[in-house]
Amino acid sequence: MVEDNYIYFTIGKQKHIALIAHDGKKQELVAWVERNADILKNHFLCGTGTTARLIAEQTGLPVKGYSSGPLGGDQQIGSRIVEGNIDFVVFLWDPLESQPHDPDVKALLRIAVVYDIPIANNLATADFLLNSVYMNDEYQRKVENFNKTMKERLEKFSR
Ligand code: PGA
Repeated sequence: MVEDNYIYFTIGKQKHIALIAHDGKKQELVAWVERNADILKNHFLCGTGTTARLIAEQTGLPVKGYSSGPLGGDQQIGSRIVEGNIDFVVFLWDPLESQPHDPDVKALLRIAVVYDIPIANNLATADFLLNSVYMNDEYQRKVENFNKTMKERLEKFSR
């Protein structure tokens, strides 16, 4: 059955939101969080080191900080997505600046798609997401059933 190929995970009413912004986008993200503090205060916020500190200091909202992006913070957030502990991302990456940790940025964007995580990469998308009906409701995200894939691959390689 086709549906066996997928498993569903619930994004709860209270989202676990990761906030990340490259340097050229940090003030934009802080201002966006300030504008939307009434909504965001009802969710769990986290972010890469510098972004998280900046938002916490300038908005007063609690934001759990991971390592700074160039030091592996993006990868930490990716691993939290894999573990099911982050289910919503606003990541304002800078399209006009190259980044030393570009492979990590790509890896995070990829893993968000693999795990069917809502991810905004600009303010317009962030506004649309935050005003979605799903912000006040649960949502079933759909992920490939890797257990099945792994079983099939193990069978292929077993002697
Ligand atoms: P930062 O990392 O919040 O520590 O600046 C963000 C990034 O560059 O990915």
